[in-house]
Amino acid sequence: MLQSKLFYKTTREKSPEVESISHDLLTRAGFVDQLMAGVFTFLPLGFRVLKNIENIIRRNMEEAGAQEVLMPVLHPKENWQKTGRWNNLDVLFKVKGSGNKEYALGPTHEEVVSPLAKKIIFSYKELPFAVFQIQTKFRDELRAKSGILRTREFLMKDLYSFHATQEDLDKFYDKMIKIYFNIFKELGIGEETYLTFASGGTFSKYSHEFQMVTDAGEDIIYICNKCKTAVNKEIKAETPACPKCSSDSFIEKKAVEVGNIFKLATKFSLPFDLKFRDKDGQEKPVLMGCYGIGLSRAMGAIVEDNYDERGIIWPKNIAPFTAHLISLGDSKKVETTAQKIYQDLQKRGVQVLYDDRQDKSAGEKFAEADLIGIPYRVVVSEKTIKKNSVEIKERNKKQARLVKIKDLNKLF
Ligand SMILES: [Zn+2]
Repeated sequence: MLQSKLFYKTTREKSPEVESISHDLLTRAGFVDQLMAGVFTFLPLGFRVLKNIENIIRRNMEEAGAQEVLMPVLHPKENWQKTGRWNNLDVLFKVKGSGNKEYALGPTHEEVVSPLAKKIIFSYKELPFAVFQIQTKFRDELRAKSGILRTREFLMKDLYSFHATQEDLDKFYDKMIKIYFNIFKELGIGEETYLTFASGGTFSKYSHEFQMVTDAGEDIIYICNKCKTAVNKEIKAETPACPKCSSDSFIEKKAVEVGNIFKLATKFSLPFDLKFRDKDGQEKPVLMGCYGIGLSRAMGAIVEDNYDERGIIWPKNIAPFTAHLISLGDSKKVETTAQKIYQDLQKRGVQVLYDDRQDKSAGEKFAEADLIGIPYRVVVSEKTIKKNSVEIKERNKKQARLVKIKDLNKLF
């Protein structure tokens, strides 16, 4: 991508309205644009990051054996009345259509996936199975804040699993915990993310949140000093000891929830009469689990964990580009060399943003590169060409080094 053609704009000054580091940096570096409180546009840079996060999550879900679907955003009121959530879920967006007919904008999809499964599952032979989607969700948050960490419209992966026995649900649930940790590791926030016990509701004692420790977080978690499992505020009030290892020594931290998983059991299969016929011919309710990750929130959380005073430091897996090629000066030789490197890298499948602008100084280009936070800065100038080299600087390192142009294929 040529930077002279990229649809973006960076700004130096902090906006007085920003409430978190990720909000500030993602806005100033041209990744997102706020339309109104809690509603954002993802510009090309931001959308590329979102796609990378999406691909990591999708691959992990498919490896778990789940199949991807796409369910509607617009839901009939009747389904939400059936589960009692039309009146009880305070963040539910309700919209009116023609003839005053009412609908819900989906904040989650149990009210759609349960009646859907009823049309397909009849026998134990069709269980277990799991479906997932990556889709826009709506929550009428009273206070949308902290940029893309808490929004009214957001991209989410939600997976629903269906089982014949509690044992099978438990097994799948434990497998998903492992898969979630793998995802957070791939997203570069594995070290700071804690499995956190949360309340389970009527049908199971606990659910689990995945909480990433950050000062921008609005949640408080208590991390067990012994086993490094955490509990949320609600659970800490109920049980003073760690539910996993019984230790009573905790450290309190601010955190943001990046995922949650829940054993729904029969909570949604009962209202929708979702049953299966067991081996002995008996009809039983299907047991369900649900598993969510907010993608846009994860993007904000990653930035909260990866930045310095100059800007974002994207983990390589999810960076919008791998290399930020920068040409300095307006000599023909520099331009031709940079152009050749740009084409060679692209031919080999390396994602490159090429800062080809001739009306910007070296200082301006470097400041912007640091703000955007692409992992490798590759500089071509008269000076480097004299040594048949480019200057390479990794965003998370202080020192730059010269690399021969012919050796670039060893780096990328
Ligand atoms: Zn513990």
